[in-house]
Order: sequence, then structure tokens, then C-alpha cells
Amino acid sequence: MKGITVKKIVPNILVVDDSKAILIVMEAILNELGMSNTITTCLNAKEALEKVKEDINYFDAIFTDLNMPEMDGMELIRHLGELHYQGGIIIVSEMDHKVISLAANLAKQHNAHLIGNITKPVQLSQVSRLLIKVAQLNSHTLLKESAISKDELIDALKNDEITPFYQPKINADNNKIESVEVLARILSSKDGNIILPNRFINTAEQHNLINQITFSLFEKATSEFINMKAQLGHDFKMAFNLSPTQLDDLNCPNKLLLILELNQLTPSNIIIEITEQHALSSLMQLETLNRLRMHGFGISLDDFGVGFTNMNQLRNLPFTEIKIDRSLISHIETDLFSQVVVSSLFNITSKDNLDLVAEGVERPEELVYLRHYKRKLAIQGFLFSRPKPQDEFISWAKDWLKTDGSPA
Ligand code: C2E
Ligand code: CA
Ligand code: CA
Repeated sequence: MKGITVKKIVPNILVVDDSKAILIVMEAILNELGMSNTITTCLNAKEALEKVKEDINYFDAIFTDLNMPEMDGMELIRHLGELHYQGGIIIVSEMDHKVISLAANLAKQHNAHLIGNITKPVQLSQVSRLLIKVAQLNSHTLLKESAISKDELIDALKNDEITPFYQPKINADNNKIESVEVLARILSSKDGNIILPNRFINTAEQHNLINQITFSLFEKATSEFINMKAQLGHDFKMAFNLSPTQLDDLNCPNKLLLILELNQLTPSNIIIEITEQHALSSLMQLETLNRLRMHGFGISLDDFGVGFTNMNQLRNLPFTEIKIDRSLISHIETDLFSQVVVSSLFNITSKDNLDLVAEGVERPEELVYLRHYKRKLAIQGFLFSRPKPQDEFISWAKDWLKTDGSPA
């Protein structure tokens, strides 16, 4: 991601530090990165908080010192959480492992997105790396401007253009394909163009069309499932994405069960992925989640790290798998903050026997680093395979299984 893209996705930045010198250095660095028009600086946290309150959606990223007189950085982060500030927070301060781990945990308890820390003296490369992370965080919610319209989506549904693409989750130890995630695409019957989910899932959620997408994908992919396993001579699970609102439908499990039965499958073949972005809220959602688990579906908490589930909730909800978001994985081999957060996640999930998946692994260095954890881990990412249509996926998987693959 080059400067221009980051600038578009992280437009407005606030820097809080009681040292004028640090503010000047930060400004110079952000200038150098092409963000000169969009920086606000504050010499104390109280003033910063007032600025944020003026328009809670204005700042996309806040860089804050920890050690400040009157209100310190921890208190600022707590208030930002209470205000439901959704942007990224970056601590500019020397921190050791224990402090990072505690700060990250506290921020999560307060529903704040702590993204990382940079040490003083501040360096351009550190700032740039963290802005890319903010951009990754924002990309979960952005890009809505190019969303397709309700009518276009209805047409796609009528023309049966919802198409499953497949991406594997690979066991980091033995390179086996553990499961395959089904990702929605609209494949235009007119020109063969492919529309990605960030342009239509929101539209579908808003206009009550998300069930139709899910069930269309679920029918198509499960009806091919036995055939795919036979062609590959290899057993694996299939994972589907459900929006949290779909859990409000208490009948959802029955509908899924019916389709499985038609295709001679059982819930133990299936993983349901629920995004962590919106906290699971209603009792109905929890009831459905529990019911799915009771029937034997695997339940995966998707995008862990960008949302608001804290470590305690992880224990109490019926998850069988946690997927660590790409923003914690990218450049993990050099990012102390991500390393500490991911390793405390490893500790917690080991105790509870939860499966762990690292999402968005793109670089061999990330894979090498992740393999250091002597802990069962699955890897999903472009390094192994992009999501592919069924035929392409099968021929990729055949090759992979032949060589018992290791990435190029
Ligand atoms: P997700 O569930 O987190 O899916 C993973 C996304 O990360 C996919 O994007 C995948 O293509 C992408 N990805 C995988 N590996 C890498 C990598 O190494 N680098 C990078 N940069 N990206 C990688 P995709 O297919 O565009 O889907 C975006 C999101 O749309 C999904 O995120 C999911 O939240 C949503 N979505 C997709 N299909 C469905 C669906 O059937 N129902 C619902 N409710 N949501 C869906
Ligand atoms: Ca997913
Ligand atoms: Ca994800």
C-alpha cells in the first residue's frame, strides 16, 4: 500500500504529546508521508479529548504519548472507548512486553482499537507501517462508496450470479488442507466480470437480502462438497460466513440442517464464521450460536483483533476456532506489538483447545515467524492461494496435495 492509498483511507490524524519536540517530529514525518493537510496536534490529553468529542467520526488515527501530566495516555484511551471512537489508536512510547499486553487488553475491554506502538525517537518507517495497519482496519468498513445498488443486487440474485469462491486454511505443521472457506462473488452472466463482497455484502445486509446470498452459496457449495472431496481424495471442512444479524433468525440452524441433509452431510463437516467487528449483542444471537454449536457445527470468530470481543468473552462464547485478523499478522516478524498480542492469544486458546487461524499471510517471513510458535495453527492467505472458483481451486489443490506443498 503506497502513501497515496494510505492518505485516502487514513485522512485525518491527531497527535497528542506533552513534548513540543515530539509533535514537531511527528508533523515532519507525516508531512513527508504526504499527510500534511490533515494533522491536528495537542499538547495535552484533555484538549485532545475535546477535539475528538466535536466530531467522533473525524479522526481516523490518534497517536498518543502514555506519560503525560494531568490526563495520561491510558486514561485517554479509556475515554475514547467510552465515546465509541472507532478509529485506530497508536501509543508513542517505550513499552515492554508486559505493558503492551496489558494496554492491549485494557483497550479491548474499553472497546478501543489499539493498533500498535512506536518507540521514541520516532522513525518514519514505524509511522508508515502503523498507518498501513490503520488503513487495513478501516478497509473492513470502508469502500462503501462503490457499493452496488439494491436493484443491481436483486438482478444478480435473479440471474443466479452469486458464486462460491474457495480459499484453503492450511495446517502450518504438515501443510494439509484443514478446511476451505467459501467466499461470495457476483459473477456477471453478461460479461464475466467479478464483483467482490465489499461492494455487495453491506447492500445485502441493509436490504434484507443477506439470507438469500448465504443460502444460495450454502446450497451450491454443499452440493459440490462430496464431489470435491472425492476428486481430491482428501477430507476437509467447509467454512461459511454469516453476518451477526442472521443469527437473529432463530430458524437459521434448521434451514442449514435441511440443506445439509439433502446433500448427505452433517454439521461436523461445516464451520460457521462470524465476524468480530460487531459485538454479538442480542440474546437471540447467542441462542442461535449455541444451537448451531449443539448441533455440531464448528463456530469460528472471524477478524479477531479488529472488533470488541475481549479475552473473557472468548472463554464464554461457544467458539471452536479463532481467526486472527490480517492487521495483526502483516509484518508480524518485526512488529513487537502484534507479537505480544498474538502470543497472549496463543496462550489463552491453548488452554481452551480452540483452533487458531492466521489470516492474510502474504509473505514467507510471516509464515516463518508463525511457525516458531509450537502450537497447532492454520494459515490462510495469498501466500498459499487466493480465493478461486471451484475448477481452479480443485486443480490448485491437486497440485498442492501431490507435492504436499510448501509455498514457492
Ligand atoms: P473475511 O471473512 O475476513 O474473508 C477473508 C478476506 O480476506 C477475503 O476477502 C479474502 O480474499 C481476503 N484474503 C485472504 N487472504 C488474504 C491475503 O493474504 N491478503 C489479503 N490482502 N487479503 C486476503 P473477500 O473474499 O473480498 O471477502 C471480504 C469479506 O466479505 C469477508 O472477509 C467477509 O467478511 C465478507 N464475506 C464474503 N463472503 C461472504 C458471505 O457469504 N456472507 C457474508 N455475510 N459475508 C461474506
Ligand atoms: Ca471469514
Ligand atoms: Ca477474516
